Amino acid sequence: MKKIAILGSTGSIGTQTLDVVRANGDIEVLGISAGSNIQKLEEQVREFSPKLVAVWDEKAAQELAQKIQDTDTKVVAGMDGLLELAAMPETEILVTAIVGMLGIRPTIEAIRAGKDIALANKETLVTAGHLIIPMAKEYGVRILPVDSEHSAIFQSLNGEHKEEIDKLLITASGGPFRGRTRKDLENVTLEDTLKHPNWVMGQKITVDSATLVNKGLEVMEAKWLFGVELDQIQVVVQPQSVIHSMVQFKDGGIMAQLGTPDMRLPIQYALYYPHRRYLDGERLDFAKLGQITFEEPDMDTFLGLPMAIRSARTGGSMPTVFNAANELAVRKFLHREIRFLDIYDIIGESMERHTVIENPSLEEILAVENDTYQWIESRW
Ligand code: NDP
Repeated sequence: MKKIAILGSTGSIGTQTLDVVRANGDIEVLGISAGSNIQKLEEQVREFSPKLVAVWDEKAAQELAQKIQDTDTKVVAGMDGLLELAAMPETEILVTAIVGMLGIRPTIEAIRAGKDIALANKETLVTAGHLIIPMAKEYGVRILPVDSEHSAIFQSLNGEHKEEIDKLLITASGGPFRGRTRKDLENVTLEDTLKHPNWVMGQKITVDSATLVNKGLEVMEAKWLFGVELDQIQVVVQPQSVIHSMVQFKDGGIMAQLGTPDMRLPIQYALYYPHRRYLDGERLDFAKLGQITFEEPDMDTFLGLPMAIRSARTGGSMPTVFNAANELAVRKFLHREIRFLDIYDIIGESMERHTVIENPSLEEILAVENDTYQWIESRW
């Protein structure tokens, strides 16, 4: 039995991870966690009988402890609880399916405890990749990508030599507003934004897909995961979301991974790497598909991508500012406090005022996050 814990078990990636567990029957879920959704946590405790459940919200944790007192599952709360879950002695893999920079500390804790990381939480690598990647090497743990694009690249690199990579081609659907002008985006609603054409995901990443911030975060994530230069990463819009990403090698040959859009595949691949298991679901039918088309991303309209690349080129603490400003701006957009295009203004102005710290420590990253939040709150 493989033994895992899941950070963010109630979300889109978390619940699909549990679907994979259910379908295979040889993975033991020892720990689960969430922010505050105790109803779903209770269901998961009763189905999977984990040893530990971590709840961010203290009051919700107390309520859950009451509800499941007839079980053997221990409830812990807050950041200490997430850290305890990350370092549980018996687990082999931590699935980081939590949303946002909050994932950094538990990921570091898990690496120090020698756990492999099945990484969905891209915000962690974007802001602290310079700490996490060397640490993973030092502790001999694997970072197994769950993001579909990075899993596709990871799969395309099987048996290849990293030195022979020419470039990574990260595909993008273009999001729900592909083809629109900046003028069109002035009045788009939250409901329009949450209608992703091909994927059903958590709300934050769905907004990030519409702004192309998500693609920018993925470029930064790829740079850390695969140790390439930013200039070796190209974003290609492929609206059908059939090619999940590609690698071009020095001889001009290109390897790609294709399939129907289904996050269970990259999740399962990360959990069983290097093996493949049966996965039910639709298969790609090329005759039915008819065509696969490609476009350049529209960097003049969807500023999330060029701003992300600018923050990555600046480096140091700038990606933290980019990411933190986006996290808060998206929260405000989801609460209907700002308009869609304000997200770009908040990120742009936050980056403008920031004085870069080279090679920031974990404490400095968290301080920059906090400072960015405070500055945005004082202005928006
Ligand atoms: P969701 O919003 O669906 O789920 C987020 C999870 O994190 C929930 O379990 C949530 O708990 C938990 N959480 C939120 N806040 C806290 C907190 N303060 N403490 C502890 N847990 C918390 O997100 P997704 O599953 O869509 O995304 C998760 C990560 O995976 C993100 O980094 C995203 O970018 C990445 N990703 C997602 C993909 C997808 O298809 N969804 C694809 C590729 C990457 P609660 O339910 O209580 O709020």
